[in-house]
Order: sequence, then structure tokens, then C-alpha cells
Amino acid sequence: MEPDRIKKTGLFWFSNDLRIDDNPALRKAADEVDKLICVYCIRPKSTFSDQQAPTELSAIREQFLFDSLVDLEKTLAALGQQLLVEFKSAADCIPEIITQHNISSIYRSRNAGEYERKIWDTLRNRYAMIEFNQVDSHTLFDRSELPFTIDNLPGSFSKFRRRVEDIAVQAPLEKPTQLPASGLSSQQDWQANWIAHASSPQRNNDPLFKGGARAAMQHVQRYFKSNSASTYKETRNGLDEHCNGANFATRFSPWLSNGSISARQIIRELHQYESEIEANESTYWIYFELLWREYFQWYAHCHKANLFKFNGLKNCNPTTSFYPERFQKWCQGNTPYPIINACMKQLIATGYMSNRGRQLVASCFVHELNLDWRYGAAYMEQQLVDYDVASNWGNWQYLAGVGADPRGHRRFDLDKQTKIYDPEGAFIKHWDGHQHLEQLDSRDAVDWPI
Ligand code: FAD
Repeated sequence: MEPDRIKKTGLFWFSNDLRIDDNPALRKAADEVDKLICVYCIRPKSTFSDQQAPTELSAIREQFLFDSLVDLEKTLAALGQQLLVEFKSAADCIPEIITQHNISSIYRSRNAGEYERKIWDTLRNRYAMIEFNQVDSHTLFDRSELPFTIDNLPGSFSKFRRRVEDIAVQAPLEKPTQLPASGLSSQQDWQANWIAHASSPQRNNDPLFKGGARAAMQHVQRYFKSNSASTYKETRNGLDEHCNGANFATRFSPWLSNGSISARQIIRELHQYESEIEANESTYWIYFELLWREYFQWYAHCHKANLFKFNGLKNCNPTTSFYPERFQKWCQGNTPYPIINACMKQLIATGYMSNRGRQLVASCFVHELNLDWRYGAAYMEQQLVDYDVASNWGNWQYLAGVGADPRGHRRFDLDKQTKIYDPEGAFIKHWDGHQHLEQLDSRDAVDWPI
């Protein structure tokens, strides 16, 4: 007779992988434990202590996150599971769960965020008897597939691309048909709490992006059905749907950022399009842009805390500073530059800004307004519905001239860019980009924005 095996209880820590499809860490957990507790921790606002860090998420970003969590909860429930959503830092919440439920192994998708990495390392040191498992699934490739170690990441995107471009992207994993149960009571208060929060009366019922894995897949399939992929390279520099049509760019980023869909799932849809409809330079360019994303992910893993440093990877500090009033006007879209104002108002209203817009507003922030780039990055962290730690801070460093750009820095001529990308002024008109002089006096006696 076989001796009684000790039952294992696992903890799955969801973060930027809010899906069950193509989630190898979840699959591993499902294969290895008898009971599984799934948790998502929402960092309370007060734990943002860094000077440049945002104090709270914008309402749009928060709603997108909650919709994504509600969708995930429904999918888990259909498999007999539950999602425990805790309004606590993971550093507080995970130890509590470990103690209460006698956890023997923890699983998560590897996260490029410095905060998440530190918590993971601290927990690992503290709980030597627990097994810690992390899998790369926010990226196209697993680190073992890369032809270099992370510490030897090529210093520029072009070098990186040449080394990885021909690696075959693995097919995404199918969703599990079954998950171990959590063993938690379904009537817990926490569940009622966060679902009530998610359906707050202040909800925007017509957001530009609806959170969740289902909405993600619908969006991606609709995009490829529209045949816009065949012209992506020509249209991708557009500014918004009013002036450039709904599919000027893919707008995959919101769902990619919180992992409602994986980059590998997108590549599968792209390959299907290429085999059934057409493969051309534009379809290749979608892959090319996803490689930019890939580069910034490994860049964050490689450079860790230096991703947030004022001088980034360089030896000297930029000659910028923090001017409260200029900063506030940039945030509100009330600078002397109409194209910048229009982009910033688009961001406030929708949580999204095109790639071209982001390059222009970042260039203006650093080179015209002489502001410390980290405040711009922190503001975008708060506002962008597709906020991704690696893509946001990596792109900001790049544009501020302290990151991976071999050319030093990128300063855009805003008049010239306006003529190219908004020749009729339709974008500026739509978002009311002209400066409002009556709002100019917005400082208090110590030059702090009112
Ligand atoms: P598309 O043009 O359709 O590109 C397809 C996909 O490729 C995108 O969804 C994205 O995953 C990836 N991609 C494209 N360009 C880049 C790029 N430069 N860097 C990294 N990935 C890229 N992207 C984020 O996802 N989150 C951020 O927080 C973020 N912050 C940014 C901040 C600045 C200052 C700049 C210049 C860029 C930032 N980007 C960020 C990159 C890029 O602007 C967005 O990914 C893109 O605009 C999203 O729209 P899309 O999905 O329609 O992009």
C-alpha cells in the first residue's frame, strides 16, 4: 500500500498575467499542488513613497484593472477556483496567506518591476522551506531561449533585434481544463468588497478599452479581421482614431500590459493572418514593434533599479530639473505647444496616447520644458491604461538620452511634427490643443502648482 502523501497547498500570485490561457506558471502550479490559492494584491496608495511615484491610479486605469480582475474571477470560478483580491501590499498579504494556509510552494509569472522583484527576493529569503517558482510569460521568449545572458543584453535595440529576430516564438499554452480548488469559503467578505469596488457608480460605461482576457481576444481578432495589419506600417504613426481611423495602430498595449493576453497569443494570431490573408512589410512591422516591447522587458530585468535613476545608464546627470508650474501645465495640456496639449488631453480623457504622441510629449518635457524625465514617467504611470513598467520607464530613459539610445537623445521639432502628423489641425481641434491663457496663473506663493 502506498503511504499517505502529504497534501500540498500552493499560492499563485497574479500580477501582470491576468489570464489563464498561456500562463505557464499557473499550469505548473496546477500540476504540482492539491490545493491552490490565487491572489492579486492591490498596492495601497500610501505605499508609494518615492518622490516621483504617483500617489494614485487614474480612474480610467483603475477601472480597466478592476474589469480585468472581474473577468479573471469569472474564468477562475468556471474552473472551481476563486480570486482573492487584497487591498494590501504583497509584502504584507503574502506572508499572511503563507501562515494561515500552510503554503508549501508559491508561483508567479516573472515581473520586470523592481518593487515586485524585491518583494519576491525578501519572501524567498524569509521562507527558506517554501518552494518559489517563477516563469517568464510576459515576454515572447523564455530567458533560456535568448542567445545571451540577461546581464549581457545587447546595448541597443538594433543589436538585440538582430540576435533574436529569427528565434521561433513558442506556441501559446492552452488553458487548463481544471485547477485545484482553493478550499476557501466562497462567502468571504473580501470577495464582496472588491467586487463592490469594481462596480462603483462612478464607472465610465463607455471606456475606450474594456478590461479582461475576453475583451482582449475579441479586440485582437477584430483587429486582424479588419485587414488593418496589411497597412500597419503606413498608418502606425497616426495620433488618434478621429483623424486616422480606428485601426491606425493595433492598440494591443492595454491588454498586453496587465497580461490579459500574452505576446505569444498575439504572435499566433499574426501568423494566422500572414498565412491566411497576407504577409508583407506591415505585418512584419507588428512583430518588429513587439520586439521593441521585448527589448524593454529584458532591459528592465537587466538594469533593475537603474531603470528609475535620473542618469539612467549614463555617467552624467541631465541638465534638467523640476519646475512645478511647467510640470502642471504639461500634465493638464496647457503648454505653448498645441500638439502637446492635444496629446495630454487625449491621455486624460481616454488613458491612451499614440506612440508618436508619447514621443512628442516626452521630448517636449525634457527638451523644451527642461523637466526631470522621471516626473513625466511617473505621471504616465498614473494615467496610462497600458502602463507597463519596462516599456514606460525604458522609453522615457531612451527619449531623455540616458537609456538605450545610441544617438544620445531625441529632440523633436514640434512645428515640423505637427505639419507632418496633423497637417489639417484636426487632432489639435478635436482635443482643444490651444493654450488657455486665462489658466496661466496657477502657482501659489512658493511656486507650487495650485
Ligand atoms: P502599436 O504601434 O500597434 O504597436 C504594437 C505593440 O508593440 C504595442 O502594443 C506594444 O506592445 C509594442 N510597442 C510598440 N512600440 C513600442 C515601444 N516604443 N516600446 C515598447 N513597446 C512598443 N507602451 C506600453 O505598453 N506601456 C507604457 O507604459 C508605455 N509608455 C511609453 C512611454 C513613452 C514616453 C513612449 C515614447 C512609449 C511608451 N510605450 C509604452 C510604447 C508605445 O508608445 C506603446 O506601446 C504604443 O503606443 C501602444 O499603442 P499600440 O498598442 O497601438 O501600439
